Amino acid sequence: MSILPEHHHLQHAAAIGSHLAKTAPKLHKLAINTTPLITPPKLNDPSLKSTWVQRAWVATGCITVLISLASSIIGSIHSHIWLEPILSGFVGYLFADLATGVYHWGIDNYGDSSTPVFGSQIEEFQGHHKLPWSITKRQFANNLHVLGRVITYIVLPIDMIVHDQPVLMGFVGMASGCILFSQQFHAWAHRTKSKLPPIVVALQDAGVLVSRSQHLDHHRPPYNNNYCIVSGVWNRFLDDHRLFEALEMVVFLKLGIRPRSWGELNSDWTKEAEDSPTTTYPP
Ligand SMILES: [Zn+2]
Ligand SMILES: [Zn+2]
Repeated sequence: MSILPEHHHLQHAAAIGSHLAKTAPKLHKLAINTTPLITPPKLNDPSLKSTWVQRAWVATGCITVLISLASSIIGSIHSHIWLEPILSGFVGYLFADLATGVYHWGIDNYGDSSTPVFGSQIEEFQGHHKLPWSITKRQFANNLHVLGRVITYIVLPIDMIVHDQPVLMGFVGMASGCILFSQQFHAWAHRTKSKLPPIVVALQDAGVLVSRSQHLDHHRPPYNNNYCIVSGVWNRFLDDHRLFEALEMVVFLKLGIRPRSWGELNSDWTKEAEDSPTTTYPP
C-alpha cells in the first residue's frame, strides 16, 4: 500500500488523461491549437538585461566567496593541512547541489508573488516554468543578482567571524560559490549543446555540472523531480526515494497546504512543454 494516497488521484487523473488522448486525438490537438500562445519576451526586453545594481550584488557575492576561499588557502598554508580543507570543499560542493534542490522545490511548490521575502523569487521561477528557454536570454548579473545578495548577507559575516578556520572556510567557500553560480549552471542546462562552450558540455557530460537532459526532465510532466541545479548528483537519490513527495505529505498533514506539483500546476507549464524547443532534448 502506498504511503502517499494522494498519488492515487494523480495516477487516476493521468489514466483518464491518457484515455482521453487515445480516444479523442483530434479533439485534443484542436484544443492545443486554439489555445492562445504565450507572448515570448523580446530579445531587447529590459527585464532580461543586467542593471548596475545587479552587477554590484553579483560582484559583492563573488568577493565574499573569494574571501572564504582565500581564508581557507592562507589558513591551510599556515597550519600545513591540505587534505581536510580539500575534502571540506568537496562536501561544500555536494551540499550546494542539495541546498539548491530543496530551495527550488520549495519555491516551485509553495507560495505566490505576495509571499513575504520569497515572493519575487517564486514569481520568477513560475515565469521560468512558463517560458523555460527565456533563462538563456537573461543577462549574467540579471540571473545571479538575487543569489549574490543572499550570499553577501549570509556568508560575509561568517567570513568575518571564522576566517581563521581553514577547513570550515573551505566548505563555506565552495558551497557559497556553487550556490551563487547555480543559476548560471541552470541557464547552461537550458542551452543547446551547439551554443555552449566545449568545456561546459564536457563538465555537464561528466556530471560535474547539472546535465541538460536531467534538468529538462524537470520541465516535463509530472514536474516533481530533478530540482537540484548545481551538479544534479542528488537528483536520482531524492527522486528514487521520493523524499520531496514525503516532505510534501508532511507539509500537507501539518499545515494543510497542497504543493503545486499535486496537479494544481499552471496549465501554461504543460503548454510550454509541448510548444518549446528548449523542453525537448537538445542535439
Ligand atoms: Zn522548477
Ligand atoms: Zn529550468
